[in-house]
Amino acid sequence: MLIIEGLTRRYNGRIAVDDVCLEVPRGSFVGVIGRSGAGKSTLLRMVNRLADPSAGRVLWDGRDVTRLRGRELRDWRGRCAMVFQGFNLSGRLDVLTNVLMGRLNHVSTPRALLRLWSAEDRAIALSALERFDIAELASQRAESLSGGQQQRVAIARALVQEPDIILADEPIASLDPRNTRIVMDALARINRDFGITVLCNLHALDIARGYCDRLVGLSAGRLVFDGPPGELDAEA
Ligand code: ADP
Ligand code: ADP
Repeated sequence: MLIIEGLTRRYNGRIAVDDVCLEVPRGSFVGVIGRSGAGKSTLLRMVNRLADPSAGRVLWDGRDVTRLRGRELRDWRGRCAMVFQGFNLSGRLDVLTNVLMGRLNHVSTPRALLRLWSAEDRAIALSALERFDIAELASQRAESLSGGQQQRVAIARALVQEPDIILADEPIASLDPRNTRIVMDALARINRDFGITVLCNLHALDIARGYCDRLVGLSAGRLVFDGPPGELDAEA
């Protein structure tokens, strides 16, 4: 269970996230919606500590992750996988190596750090690519793939990290409608098949309605809606 308590972030005195409280049971698929600048990205980034809160706490299974330092912080980040709008792949490296990078967060042995991947790591990475129908691209440079293919590589990288939570920040913002479906289906399958909690920032309300079992609405940093998609329709 993820608990967000009074989470607040200011940048140079301006409020970006304002006293947000949320309880997210394991296995939820939560869509965070709101206009550009509403604070969605800052909220997500405070969960894995890419940003630190000005006030408030983030608890995972009762432990305050906003206080973690050093090795404990690295372990926590390994349990949160990020999926970004811009994919964040190493473009000149091949697809399989990009997916294997996800194992770095999981297996921090010298072998992994030196990229001496084990046969098991390779098998896990390949099967993640197969799961998203891109195994035949394993030896291609990541930058040669389409946006939808690159985002599936990023999701495969997130999956092999064996995370508790996937934090997806506008994962479909640069994709066409067909690839939007393919990428959202991939996130939905990870959520369903592995029970991994997904927090997903989304611009597109129709997509959020169709995929998420709960929507959280932010406006000027404040939580203005929290409920199932059907409730939002009732209020509209
Ligand atoms: P969203 O993801 O909903 O578009 P953000 O979390 O990116 O919203 O931004 C919320 C507010 O915080 C905006 O006003 C934005 O300009 C500001 N902000 C976000 N990150 C930074 C930063 N690193 N430095 C200064 N201001 C920031
Ligand atoms: P190199 O050092 O060969 O340039 P890196 O290992 O630094 O490559 O990775 C390049 C990019 O991939 C960076 O943007 C990094 O943040 C990202 N990256 C690496 N490993 C992971 C991972 N496990 N999960 C998410 N992103 C990763």
